[in-house]
Amino acid sequence: MTSERLTSHRAIVGDTFEIRRALPNRHRRTVGAWCFLDHAGPADYPAGQGLNIGPHPHIGLQTFSWMIEGKILHRDSLGYEQWIHPGQVNLMTAGRGISHAEESPADEPGRFQLAQLWIALPRTESECDPAFEHYPELPIIERGGFRITVLAGTFCGERSPARVYSPMVGVDLATPGSARIELPLEPGFEYAAVTLEGRPEVGGAALESGILFYLGKGRDTLAVASDESSRLLLIGGEPFGEDILLWWNFVARTTAEMETATRDWKAGRRFGAVRGARSAPLVAPDIGGLRLLTGRP
Ligand code: MN
Repeated sequence: MTSERLTSHRAIVGDTFEIRRALPNRHRRTVGAWCFLDHAGPADYPAGQGLNIGPHPHIGLQTFSWMIEGKILHRDSLGYEQWIHPGQVNLMTAGRGISHAEESPADEPGRFQLAQLWIALPRTESECDPAFEHYPELPIIERGGFRITVLAGTFCGERSPARVYSPMVGVDLATPGSARIELPLEPGFEYAAVTLEGRPEVGGAALESGILFYLGKGRDTLAVASDESSRLLLIGGEPFGEDILLWWNFVARTTAEMETATRDWKAGRRFGAVRGARSAPLVAPDIGGLRLLTGRP
């Protein structure tokens, strides 16, 4: 049965925060429609030094923010201002264009840990109206010693309210101690696991953080076990099946779409304005490093 251990790469966001980027990976661009996975923190910061990402645009994707520790304020060009707390999801659908900013509380020290994922929109939805949804509660299943939160799709009969556009699933599994479970999988889905904390065993292999453990498709179960406190994400979906481009904050099908979106952002068109953000809007980098992502196996 296929499995590949792919190393996440480290990057810096918002000037100071080191993140582990599991997707896209040189050897694996997408897992289902999931096309980006950053694990940020856990990190403690002094007052005034939290996350502070100025307004920036998105097209062709959904941003899926899963708060693990701390809180962050989302502001967007549709006028939404929404704090996100642990156990909650902010889901922003960019469609043909939206902009947003993300900020820690301004004047207090804090700690944060966040998983931010992007979901590629299928071609038929890629130019949809932009939207924002906050999900304060998600279905939770207690089984085998794990607390399983259904982030997206349906798992063990529980359906996440998050509005997604492809057959896909995402779950968070957490345990404070010893736990063991045989997870039911969808054989038509491909899956990958990423450890957030501890060193759980996934499919019989110990999985430390900083690895995208790609599990392929054709499985109907997956054993996950732990002897100590641990936490991991399992993502999956029908292989995306469309070739997409991912560049800066955009998902598109052609370089022309990327160039137009970049020009529109520079000219202050299409993406609206984010009111009240503490930082200046981000400047688009030079469009030169376009990377082809393929959803094909
Ligand atoms: Mn963003």
